[in-house]
Amino acid sequence: MGTSAGSTAQVREQLLALRAEYRRRIDTIHDHARNPLEPDSSEQAAQLGNIAVVSALETEATAELAAIDAALLRIDAGTYGRCTKCGETISAARLAARPASAECMECMKA
Ligand SMILES: [Zn+2]
Repeated sequence: MGTSAGSTAQVREQLLALRAEYRRRIDTIHDHARNPLEPDSSEQAAQLGNIAVVSALETEATAELAAIDAALLRIDAGTYGRCTKCGETISAARLAARPASAECMECMKA
């Protein structure tokens, strides 16, 4: 038995919770996006501005979801916590701040 089995299970739960949160966020964004535009032109301009912000948020949430799914796959593969670029161990502090981190600090800066 590996000594890290317990913490891996914890990380998996953390990632699943994060994934659920981002899914919820994307659902909320879609609900807002379905609202029709107001006929008044100034209202319309404000709405269009919102759509730009909303689509940026959606892009971010979608990217984070993909990163979380990839991290879950790495847990299954036994490579979680290792940098996908250089293979070095990713620092615990970095993983605590963002459990879906795929790269070490050095590779992220590069
Ligand atoms: Zn690296």
